[in-house]
Amino acid sequence: MRVVVVGGGVAGLATARGLRVAGHEVVLLERSPVLRPSGGALTLWSNGLRVLDEFGVDLIGVGREIDSFEAWRSTGRPIWRVDVTAIRQRLGRGAVTIPRSRLVERLATGLPPDVVRFGCQVVGIEANRQGVRVLCADGSDFEADVVIGADGHRSLVRRLFVGGVAKPTGWATWQGLVESEHPIATGAVGVNVIGPGGVAGFLPAGEGLLQWWFEVPHGSSEIAPWSPVEKLRARFGSWRSPVPEVLAGVTDAELFPHARHRVLRVWGGERTTLVGDSAHVMPPALAQGANQSLEDAWLLAKLLSDDVSASLRRYESARRRRVAIVSRLALLATTQQGRSWTRFSGLPTRPTTWVYGTGLRASSTLLSGGRRLRRRW
Ligand SMILES: Cc1cc2nc3c(=O)[nH]c(=O)nc-3n(C[C@H](O)[C@H](O)[C@H](O)COP(=O)(O)OP(=O)(O)OC[C@H]3O[C@@H](n4cnc5c(N)ncnc54)[C@H](O)[C@@H]3O)c2cc1C
Repeated sequence: MRVVVVGGGVAGLATARGLRVAGHEVVLLERSPVLRPSGGALTLWSNGLRVLDEFGVDLIGVGREIDSFEAWRSTGRPIWRVDVTAIRQRLGRGAVTIPRSRLVERLATGLPPDVVRFGCQVVGIEANRQGVRVLCADGSDFEADVVIGADGHRSLVRRLFVGGVAKPTGWATWQGLVESEHPIATGAVGVNVIGPGGVAGFLPAGEGLLQWWFEVPHGSSEIAPWSPVEKLRARFGSWRSPVPEVLAGVTDAELFPHARHRVLRVWGGERTTLVGDSAHVMPPALAQGANQSLEDAWLLAKLLSDDVSASLRRYESARRRRVAIVSRLALLATTQQGRSWTRFSGLPTRPTTWVYGTGLRASSTLLSGGRRLRRRW
């Protein structure tokens, strides 16, 4: 089948990889002139890593395998620890943190050079029962049997075929990826520090890089784009180590306001569907946006068949419920964590790890082996 994928982020590149593995003819249209390197580092969990394995994407030499994630109060009291080595044993894969730029590089490396067309901004799509025509701003056009929207949370494909915009959650992340000699950068432990009015996070991302971020309520003028580092230092500088040390070495910060879609029943028309953030942008609290995008790519590649419309709806129906769970939990985790975690401390690691692993499996189509969810979310 001839497939056009719109958008060359994690979701689009993975979809192109998966569809090619499944034997389809693929063209990917990306509006940027090159792969976009922005976006700090991502955590790939057991589900996303298993998809990459199936697509033959290797991460050798990039990123960092994580052994545990820990959460502390801003005062220094430990709250919980998730033993990722136990999750690795249980689910086959654990967690790897990797700069987004490295992940898109590795996803693109396996694609023949004529698959990705850079500088093609899609401006229109004409669909009928026989096929689809995709129109680009430079006047070029592409005929296809199916079009997959992987064009991010402001998706044109979504706007044309289903509608429904992502709403701000009222939270945002300030983040950066820096070269660092801090022990976290060279270790295998991810750290969350939770305190009044926000969460700080630190991760090793491989190649001596440290990913740091602060999740804060968004919309107040307290941390403004023109002086973020100064304001972050003023607000979080007295928190437990490593917050002050890392902030001391930071010179610049990127802002990501969080947005969330309501996960719809149907994601496209007769010959169109969506993958990744275009279908289900969610807050990053559970580190699942890219992982769920990889799962979309994996399932779509498995299900797409000559009975186009039916296979697209089967894909959406299987993904929708899992994605909706993750998205709700991610919202809850963001809006509640400052409040609810301050009631706990010293949670035992084994049950915490078991709950995390079980949640990971329940929110994944791949890890749950396609078992049906009983409850509607
Ligand atoms: C602060 C933050 C931290 C995160 N951390 C994690 C994490 O730890 N783990 C995790 O799993 N996820 C994480 N995520 C989420 C993750 O980054 C995304 O869910 C994931 O990258 C999927 O993105 P995408 O490919 O769907 O969209 P995008 O990355 O937005 O890519 C869309 C692409 O489409 C292109 N495009 C758009 N319109 C057009 C058009 N008209 N024509 C042609 N091309 C077009 C764009 O240029 C872009 O390249 C995080 C997100 C944020 C904001």
